[in-house]
Amino acid sequence: MGNKKDFRSLTVGNHELSPETQMMGYGFDPKLSEGALKPPVFLTSTFVFESAEHGKDFFDLVGGRRELNPGESAGLVYSRFNNPDMEVLEDRLALWEKSELATVFSSGMAAIFTAIMAHMKPGEVLVYSQPIYGGTETLILNLMPKWGIKTVGFAANDSKAAIDEAFKKAQEMGPVGMALIETPANPTCGLVDIRYVRNWLEDCQDSDGERPPLAVDNTFLGPVWQKPLEHGADIVLYSLTKYVGGHSDLVAGAAAGPARWVKPMKQMRSAIGNHIDPHTCWMVMRSLETLKIRFERATENARTIAEFLHNHPKVDKVHYLGFLETGSPAHAVFTRQCLAPGSTFAFDLKGGEPEAFRFLNALEVVKLAVSLGGTETLICHPASTTHSGVPKDLRAKAGVNDALCRISVGIESAEDLIADLTQALDKV
Ligand SMILES: *Cc1c(COP(=O)(O)O)cnc(C)c1O
Repeated sequence: MGNKKDFRSLTVGNHELSPETQMMGYGFDPKLSEGALKPPVFLTSTFVFESAEHGKDFFDLVGGRRELNPGESAGLVYSRFNNPDMEVLEDRLALWEKSELATVFSSGMAAIFTAIMAHMKPGEVLVYSQPIYGGTETLILNLMPKWGIKTVGFAANDSKAAIDEAFKKAQEMGPVGMALIETPANPTCGLVDIRYVRNWLEDCQDSDGERPPLAVDNTFLGPVWQKPLEHGADIVLYSLTKYVGGHSDLVAGAAAGPARWVKPMKQMRSAIGNHIDPHTCWMVMRSLETLKIRFERATENARTIAEFLHNHPKVDKVHYLGFLETGSPAHAVFTRQCLAPGSTFAFDLKGGEPEAFRFLNALEVVKLAVSLGGTETLICHPASTTHSGVPKDLRAKAGVNDALCRISVGIESAEDLIADLTQALDKV
């Protein structure tokens, strides 16, 4: 790294290094691991104390009875609290996000659940955008009421009126405890203005009289193409299973943001144990080395494929962020908030479920599977799979109709993908 004495160095001379350069070494000191270039996988549940006094001090730190001094790092105690692989991974994620803290979880859902549990109390109201990831909707609709958490949804389609209405309704129902938004929304790519929601939260007080936090699920574009902390988010949430993991071979999640909001999540994780195991941490670190180059290639392929579908006679509409109309409110939000359209989008075939199914069954290269953000192109039928648990009227409101297919474009040759889509569309 730039300054050889400091393995956390961010610069070479006066030049600030970018995250894609830092991913190969940041936060790891080879001297601590026999000179190994890459971090070993620390398969250990516990760590040996140098002395009884050290053990006592470590527990004071982990138990929150003492704060870290400037420049001091917490010692390792037990792998439910921390592990070298987990620490290096968290430091690297924080670098992408330019956040004070990042904390990793066993899945994206574990991160979302912990955000809600760490920041909300019974009687408070959760305001959230719809459509939202199917698992998140199920969590909100089926589990939150059990803990006395009330919920109000609003449509993610750039309507300020819908956000105003949701917050007014929420404030009548009880103190607002949190806002959770997913932008772009899955699967329709509806956008939510992050700053506008944050401004509403400035006028809210939770049951302790504090401003409630804004959590943004950044799985679709982050951390490369969208930086929610710069637009007013307090907590950025991830399913690392998707673009960050990027090879469809692991399940993991993360949260990033200022310590004020992320530390309570980390404390809850230590208490309940929904952290990531060392091997999966190592896998995510390996993925971070190629994150930018994968995302760039997938985004480029997606543009080529969106254009192909847009011009195809059997396709009705392509919901691709790159096609937003200049001058529309959605385009203004896109230009302000997003750096690129990403590589996951939906499109409506002409017809309904029979046409969609004939097309999907005829594909040979593109695989029929849920999930997204991997090196390979995946396609799915949200109405009958990812969003089948969402009530039909909510699905209709969100534009999840029976002819809608969602594609997550990978890094293959775009010509090969188009050849496959062409022959499958011919069979509809
Ligand atoms: C996949 C996904 C999740 C859930 O993540 P898991 O890692 O599967 O638990 C949450 N939000 C979005 C947007 C997702 O795509």
